[in-house]
Amino acid sequence: MTETEREQMPAVVQPPRSDASESAPVTGGTRVEIENLTAYYGSRAAVTDVSLTVLPRTVTAFIGPSGCGKSTVLRAINRMHEEIPGARIEGRITIDGVDVYGRDVDPTSVRRAVGMVFQKANPFPTMSIYDNVIAGLKLVSNGRRRGGYDEIVEKALRRTNLWDEVKDRLNKAGSALSGGQQQRLCIARAIAVEPEVVLMDEPCSALDPISTLAIEDLIGDLKKQYTIVIVTHNMQQASRVSDMTAFFSLPGPGLPGTLIEVDDTTTMFQTPSRKATEDYITGRVG
Ligand code: ADP
Repeated sequence: MTETEREQMPAVVQPPRSDASESAPVTGGTRVEIENLTAYYGSRAAVTDVSLTVLPRTVTAFIGPSGCGKSTVLRAINRMHEEIPGARIEGRITIDGVDVYGRDVDPTSVRRAVGMVFQKANPFPTMSIYDNVIAGLKLVSNGRRRGGYDEIVEKALRRTNLWDEVKDRLNKAGSALSGGQQQRLCIARAIAVEPEVVLMDEPCSALDPISTLAIEDLIGDLKKQYTIVIVTHNMQQASRVSDMTAFFSLPGPGLPGTLIEVDDTTTMFQTPSRKATEDYITGRVG
């Protein structure tokens, strides 16, 4: 396949690059469409009939009370949901028009195109900072990459504002960094594979306010290149970092979560259409 042919294909169906980070094109941005998604754990639907569009190069925040299915929807986007025994989805999710659950689509290519950052920073504890940055890249390129990784490591660490803090100790364990630095290291690991979409599941909930602001600044910077979805319990954070907000709720005990409304963040926080959204945002419920 020529590089031009590759660039014309959505990343989700491309075979892994052998030299992932260096020549990834800056695309027009990636759009994620979720259509009538219902996600099950065994026979129980956790969240039902979710339809929403995640726009390119924007930050979309998922908010709502615990247990309404925000993380489940997030994990359905990069096919991590199906890793849980008995878990499955109905409905459709497309990334730039490609059905991520299509028969010909390899889940590994989906996870390469859609990176994920978790609540608890999870650098591989025995690996160096350097090796942590390239861990995902090595996995997706199956060791087929030509040349070294130095440039990629520096670029990813610069991109996450970590380079100056760690450049003199790249061979030290990732676990030796502070919580905020570890989370930025995990973001560096996620973007080193040049994904199109970055999913973040409460990335700041274990961090102090200063580290939280550093991550929020970083998110604002990363959205110039990536499509970002963030689950957050922090209303101020949703209003600070996101362009679009989706509010999920639980209609009643034992019932699956649903998407109540999605709109641009200013509208959602100032004049939401639904009373349930207003009650949640103003702290009256949830
Ligand atoms: P939220 O992110 O909004 O807090 P989750 O997506 O984590 O909600 O959970 C939605 C529902 O799915 C909850 O009822 C939760 O108990 C259930 N759930 C989440 N993960 C699992 C799992 N691994 N196995 C079974 N049920 C789960």
